[in-house]
Amino acid sequence: MQEITIAIDGYSSTGKSTIAKQLAKALGYIYVDTGAMYRAVTLFAMRNNFIGPKVENDEDLVQSLAKVQLEFVYNDELGYAEMHLNGKNVEKEIRTLEVSKYVSKVAAIEAVRQKLVAMQQTIGKGAGIVMDGRDIGTVVFPKAELKIFMTASPEARATRRYKELLEKGEKVTYKEVLKNVQDRDYIDSHREFSPLMKAEDAIEFDNSDMGLKEQFERIYGYALRVIEKPKKN
Ligand code: C5P
Repeated sequence: MQEITIAIDGYSSTGKSTIAKQLAKALGYIYVDTGAMYRAVTLFAMRNNFIGPKVENDEDLVQSLAKVQLEFVYNDELGYAEMHLNGKNVEKEIRTLEVSKYVSKVAAIEAVRQKLVAMQQTIGKGAGIVMDGRDIGTVVFPKAELKIFMTASPEARATRRYKELLEKGEKVTYKEVLKNVQDRDYIDSHREFSPLMKAEDAIEFDNSDMGLKEQFERIYGYALRVIEKPKKN
């Protein structure tokens, strides 16, 4: 059976990574969470005071990008890779609302995107990959054999993310989370370099009223249809 590249893009908190992880596991593919890469660069920028409540120093961040070392380290117990920044596991830190507040600004910087897109293309060049993000089907792998574009209402997304953050012990309000989801949608869709948009050949997938099982079954079905299709000569 041929191995393919699967690009899953879409708005914040649409549950892309949950479906992408399940899909990769079912197909025996590698899963790459590109949001984790932008989040790790943001954490680096916050720690070095390049971005924060009172600063936004893009130039110094760009100058320091060579010092940002990112690595996905596979965790056997969890069954997926975790993000390491300069040799340290930062999975927990990068998922906080604090990082979510700044990540879209950092992701709008051209030099940041260039560095991360090049890494993503290297990681995914062998196919047999499920990659999720915002520009995978449009910029990173425009020739991906299967492209999904996930959407859901902002309220449905904020409710899910709010529950997740509470479960992790973060003290947040629903209002704050909804605002963050809407702010990120806006910045991600309006930025100059590779804005979030649906690739022409992507399947639009609205999961506002859909449980995880149904989502997985449908998307797994799309994948099998492409994988099992005889290759054209
Ligand atoms: O997927 P996740 O919500 O973790 O992504 C965090 C942020 O990283 C997004 O809101 C977006 O600003 C940025 N991002 C991006 N391009 C990607 C993946 C994520 O700009 N391919």
